[in-house]
Amino acid sequence: MFIGHYSAAFAARAFKPAVPLWLLFVAVQLVDFIWAGLVIAGVEKVRIVPGFMEASPLDLYYMPFTHSLVGAFIWAVAAALLYGAARKGAGHWAASIIVGAAVLSHWFADLLVHAPDLPLVSGDPKFGFGLWRSLLWSQVAEMGLLLGGFWLYMRHTAPKGAVGRIAPWVFLLFLGLVQAYSHMGTAEENGPTTPFAITALVAYSVLVCGAWLMDRTRLPK
Ligand SMILES: [Zn+2]
Repeated sequence: MFIGHYSAAFAARAFKPAVPLWLLFVAVQLVDFIWAGLVIAGVEKVRIVPGFMEASPLDLYYMPFTHSLVGAFIWAVAAALLYGAARKGAGHWAASIIVGAAVLSHWFADLLVHAPDLPLVSGDPKFGFGLWRSLLWSQVAEMGLLLGGFWLYMRHTAPKGAVGRIAPWVFLLFLGLVQAYSHMGTAEENGPTTPFAITALVAYSVLVCGAWLMDRTRLPK
């Protein structure tokens, strides 16, 4: 899953406005940030198989450190502890639980679309409901999730002037375009995976910056 992950970030920002949106954009995608790093380092393994699934050519056959349920849980606890320790003031531990939950949400959102490649720890059994088998239905799920979170965010924030009225919609359109772009291009059988991981890192980072910019135009209600 890609932009569907940001549903949890928008929803968490609506629910706990003390946590900045950009940080939630990092949190919900933290597992994939680390995954891309580990793919580049050759620790976690993926191969490109054109037509593997209609909406994804990635055979993600080894990623226990980032995409096992236990692995994702450990990253979530680590992120929550780090955030709780770094942020002072009242309610910082409640906010840190939100950050941890945002990190863990990644695994459950991936569960919807992935082939059965998400282990509990490592090896079998592996889980994944496989919505990526259908380009149409996986996109309906991603956009549906994203719009649900976006709707909550819009309800719980108010614009800071005219820019604040337009900026969220521009950002939403941008998210949609990045998602569409991610499904373009041709995959080369057993092609190099490092450029793919680097592109993912760049895309996630650009969206973190976009979230930061956009959220500056809104105020929590
Ligand atoms: Zn993932």
